[in-house]
Amino acid sequence: MWVKAIDIVLDRLVMQGADLNTVKVIGGSAQQHGSLYWSRHGVQTLRNLDSDKFLHVQINDSAFTVNRTPIWMDGSTEKQCIEMEAAIGGRAEMVNLTGSKCYARFTGPQIRKIYQERSHAYEETQFISVVSSFLASVFLGDIAPIDYGDASGMNLFDIKEKKWSKQCLNSCAPDLEERLGQPVPTSTLIGKISPFFVQRFGFPAECKITAFTGDNLSALSGMVAEEDSLVMSLGTSDTLIMNLKEQPQLEEGHVLCHPTEVDQFMGLLCFRNGSLVRESFNKTEANGDWKKFNELLDSTPRGNYGNMALHFHSIEIIPNLKGVLRWTRNSSPDNSESAKGVKKFPSPETEIRALIEGQMLHKRAIASDMGFHFGSNTKIIATGGASVNKSILQVISDVFNAPVFVQNESEAALFGAAYRARYSLYVNSLQESNSEIYQDANTKNLDSSLQLNYHDYVTQFIPNHLQLICEPSKDCDQIYSPMLERYRQMAFVLEQA
Ligand code: ADP
Repeated sequence: MWVKAIDIVLDRLVMQGADLNTVKVIGGSAQQHGSLYWSRHGVQTLRNLDSDKFLHVQINDSAFTVNRTPIWMDGSTEKQCIEMEAAIGGRAEMVNLTGSKCYARFTGPQIRKIYQERSHAYEETQFISVVSSFLASVFLGDIAPIDYGDASGMNLFDIKEKKWSKQCLNSCAPDLEERLGQPVPTSTLIGKISPFFVQRFGFPAECKITAFTGDNLSALSGMVAEEDSLVMSLGTSDTLIMNLKEQPQLEEGHVLCHPTEVDQFMGLLCFRNGSLVRESFNKTEANGDWKKFNELLDSTPRGNYGNMALHFHSIEIIPNLKGVLRWTRNSSPDNSESAKGVKKFPSPETEIRALIEGQMLHKRAIASDMGFHFGSNTKIIATGGASVNKSILQVISDVFNAPVFVQNESEAALFGAAYRARYSLYVNSLQESNSEIYQDANTKNLDSSLQLNYHDYVTQFIPNHLQLICEPSKDCDQIYSPMLERYRQMAFVLEQA
């Protein structure tokens, strides 16, 4: 299905008159965690594609040893997670090595399940790709390396040493390293396009391929986020993405190798009780009308007269608990009766403001715990369905005491793929011209200070990619700093309940 999709997309591009002969470099973004298992025959086919035939006729079922590709929605590998963590000395060690505890959807546990339950298929597998490196492989006409970013979503990669962790590989399946190949930094040129695409679609023979990566990583590159930017995605679930200089010690959440800053990490936090809870309040308190919801939200003052709420309707990830707690200004953790708060606030507008402020205080607290430093340069970049809602964005701006921006373009992950491709080409051409000038490998790196970093390079071409939507109110620090403390007390009370 995926291979056929490439046939269809490229055919449509040609039919719409796209001049593929002008393409200099191709980058890509794909869903994280899924894995594909190449047969020997499949690898041979990939290296010898016939341009007179469709891709899907050639890279068909026989190219793979497993025909139902495990993807991120497969949560059936809890057993393998427990085994892998136990084998390397526990969960904390897994987090320390790979940046995440073992998750059922991650590639390592998925591979282990195939090794255990379909050992013949595993034996017959010559290479394993993740979805992004699979897509790159098709364009390359050979097995493409997995990039550091997507490698970080496998529970197999040592994110500090930037190589496969022998311990994790051993805990997963035998002879795995030879099947995975050597990973590469995300912005690496990995070769030239396969002759198939030159002959069939008119790409230039010199067209390069850069490493492809996972969608969250690519979205961060597409936002061209600065070091102090916090990306907040308000889609079906809420997600925070941030740059981190150091690896935090958090059991939950994910730390991945940063897609564009070689020595940094990307922190990713998911919140279960995001849009779905906002939607249910919109239904019950505002008849399902976001306009009405916003009027109610805007009619209440910052701080909500001390009324605060935590709504974890489904079990939350951090803190790992379910429950609802509403506090008035008089509630207190010191007295068990008072700590229970109240059942309901007196008006819909109080309910709505307490919900939105509570959600954002929760996010601010967890982002700080992950190691994000809030300061005068902090910027919030909002995306996803709810980022059209200016009233919610104003609360975010106030609670985080930072301006909120949105991107002018949607599809950040796709733009990220294109920007990274172009940046890789730039870095490569700089290195080539340096080596021509110096003719000496030792001096080649001397000029690396002249190399623009990813952010500065890309923003030359898109100077106004962000649009300022809200700025924090003057009194917000005074109001929300004490409320952040109260949020922590409330979370503690819920945890004890
Ligand atoms: P996905 O993560 O599936 O791509 P979207 O980014 O499209 O989802 O976001 C969908 C969410 O956006 C829905 O849960 C919906 O409640 C929310 N949403 C859409 N419009 C608004 C709005 N005006 N105000 C607040 N939330 C909104």
